[in-house]
Amino acid sequence: MNDFSFDAHIPRVVFGAGALSQLPAEVDRLGARRALVLSTPEQADSARRVAELLGERCAGIFPRAVMHVPIEAAREAREEARRLGADCAVAIGGGSTTGLGKAIALDSGLPIIAIPTTYAGSEMTPIYGLTEGGVKKTGRDPRVLPKTVIYDPELSLTLPLGLSITSGINAIAHAAEGLYAHDGNPIVALMAEEGIRALAAALLRLHAAPKDLSARGDALYGAWLCGAVLGHVAMGLHHKLCHTLGGSFNLPHAEVHTVVLPHALAYNAAAAPVAMSRIARALGSDDAPAALYDLARRLGAPTSLREIGMPADGLDRAAELAVTTPYPNPRPLQRDALRALLQRAFDGTPPSP
Ligand code: NAD
Repeated sequence: MNDFSFDAHIPRVVFGAGALSQLPAEVDRLGARRALVLSTPEQADSARRVAELLGERCAGIFPRAVMHVPIEAAREAREEARRLGADCAVAIGGGSTTGLGKAIALDSGLPIIAIPTTYAGSEMTPIYGLTEGGVKKTGRDPRVLPKTVIYDPELSLTLPLGLSITSGINAIAHAAEGLYAHDGNPIVALMAEEGIRALAAALLRLHAAPKDLSARGDALYGAWLCGAVLGHVAMGLHHKLCHTLGGSFNLPHAEVHTVVLPHALAYNAAAAPVAMSRIARALGSDDAPAALYDLARRLGAPTSLREIGMPADGLDRAAELAVTTPYPNPRPLQRDALRALLQRAFDGTPPSP
């Protein structure tokens, strides 16, 4: 057993099919009276449903969350919260909507109730992101961690199957890197292994039956665990590569994670054998990178950067960017080895060290 320190910060969780109905009581529990409801334009109907449920506790709706939290949207939402005298924010949606709630909390300290409808896991983390002039900056601040999270699997029934799968593998990536994090600990490792197991099994069931409420519940349970891992420990090569690829080449977030994960794990495999055996065990295999590559193929998910819009002539630049800012990773960052990794990810060939 290695030495460790662990400062747990997990929001209150209300979990279950139909749990959304407990929202008014959860607003009262925070001592709040005027909630600003946030959503993307695509989920404005869900926001209206939440507003109806809240009745006089609803101060207004801001249905204009977009991917990667542009500073302009954050300013507009902050201003709306002030104008309406909101004393809490209710974010219903995926990481983009939770991210907008975090941007408001960062500025005002307003408590957030998050109602996640994807598996991205942002609701469990004190990590925020803001995009200004095309550059996304991320940071950690305890003020942005939601106070309460309502996990209601009924709300993820409408998440399209393709997005369910890539969002689920995005969550698995948090747990996989959490298992070799330099600041990891045994509790986080338990959550990570169980999160991978629960999500991988649930995704296979969802692939066969996307409206299976029990599988939706298991996937959300896995997403909760994986998000909690992301909230507690530092991420390595995989997340840095995805941030670079997503930010510099405007690739879709969850898909990039899905394609890159087996390759990033193969790069780190020899330097992190214990983590690899735990990931493999969670997937019922003896080879973690190969098992994740196979999982993506079985689920019909994208397996190449080419098919999700990466330009071939961007691979050199991506490799350069990946080594410019150093960060903790089990295996040292080597430009040529990373360039080879990116080529395999681009072509969609099976992962190799
Ligand atoms: P998203 O929030 O951008 O959602 C994608 C689309 O799916 C949106 O149009 C959304 O309205 C729609 N959608 C969501 N749930 C739905 C449902 N149940 N039914 C129908 N449509 C639904 O996608 P995401 O992958 O959840 O979030 C990605 C963003 O979150 C990225 O910007 C990423 O950087 C960020 N993120 C942040 C953290 C963190 O800790 N700060 C963690 C993970 C992801």
